[in-house]
Amino acid sequence: MAFDDALVALLRRAERVSVLTGAGVSAESGVPTFRDAQTGLWARFRPEELATPEAFRENPKLVWEWYAWRRELCARVAPNAGHLALAALERRFPTFRLITQNVDGLHQRAGSRAVVELHGNITTTRCFDDGGVVESWEELGEVPPRCPRCGGLLRPGVVWFNESLPPRALEAATEAAQSAEVFFSIGTSALVQPAASLPLLAHEHGAIVVEINPGPTPLSQRADYAIAGRAGDVLPALADLLGAL
Ligand code: NAD
Repeated sequence: MAFDDALVALLRRAERVSVLTGAGVSAESGVPTFRDAQTGLWARFRPEELATPEAFRENPKLVWEWYAWRRELCARVAPNAGHLALAALERRFPTFRLITQNVDGLHQRAGSRAVVELHGNITTTRCFDDGGVVESWEELGEVPPRCPRCGGLLRPGVVWFNESLPPRALEAATEAAQSAEVFFSIGTSALVQPAASLPLLAHEHGAIVVEINPGPTPLSQRADYAIAGRAGDVLPALADLLGAL
C-alpha cells in the first residue's frame, strides 16, 4: 500500500498524534455499525430508534434486551488488525491520544491504554433515574432489573442519541484535537455530533487531518488526506512503514 511521501515524512517526525475512531474500526471484528442492516431477531428495528432515552422510556425491556444481545456479541469477538496497529502506534509516538465513539472495549483489549471513551462502554450499567453507575444488582427476573439504591430501571452505560457526552471525556477529546500535529478520523461517518467536529477543531488548530474510510464522508473533502480503505488494511501498513510493528 502506497502512502503520500509528505504524509509519511510528517508522521516520522510527529510527536503529538490524535485519533478518533468510529464503528467502522470494529466492523472487521464482526461488530455491526449502526448503519449496517440488522439481522435475525432485530432485523425489523432501526438501531437509531433503539439507542435513545425516548425508546427506553417507551419500551425499556426491548432496549435492555437489544443491548444485552450487543454486549454478548462484543464479548464474543476479538480485536482486529486495525485495533492492534493502533495499540502499536500508541507506543511509537511520544504523545498519542485515542478517542473512540465505540462502546465495545476492543481498543483496550488490543492493548491501547490512553483511550477516551466518548460514548461510554457497553459493559457498564447505570441507573436510568439517578444516572449513577451500578456495579451489581439482584436478579429478580424483572427486565430491565432495578437499581439497588433507588429502585429505578437499570440501563446500559452508553451515551444515547439526544444525550450529552461525559464532560471529562469531551474535555480530554477537545484537548487532544487542539494539541495534535496529526489527527486521524478512522471508521466514522463523521455525522454524529459533537465527535464529528473534532477533526475540524484539530484542523483549525493547525493539525494535518487524515481520514481512513472505505467510503466518502462529509469530512473527506475537508481532510488533508482521505485514504480510501479498510482500517484493518490501512493501519497495519502504516504502522509497519513507521516501524511501529
Ligand atoms: P459511524 O458513524 O462511526 O459510521 C461507520 C463508518 O465506518 C462508515 O463511514 C463506514 O463507511 C465506515 N467503515 C465501515 N467499515 C469500515 C472499515 N472496515 N474500516 C474503516 N471504516 C469502515 O458509526 P455508526 O455505525 O454510524 O454509529 C454511530 C455511533 O453509534 C457511534 O459513534 C457509536 O457510538 C455507536 N456504535 C458503536 C459501535 C461499537 O462500539 N462497535 C457499533 C455501532 C454503533
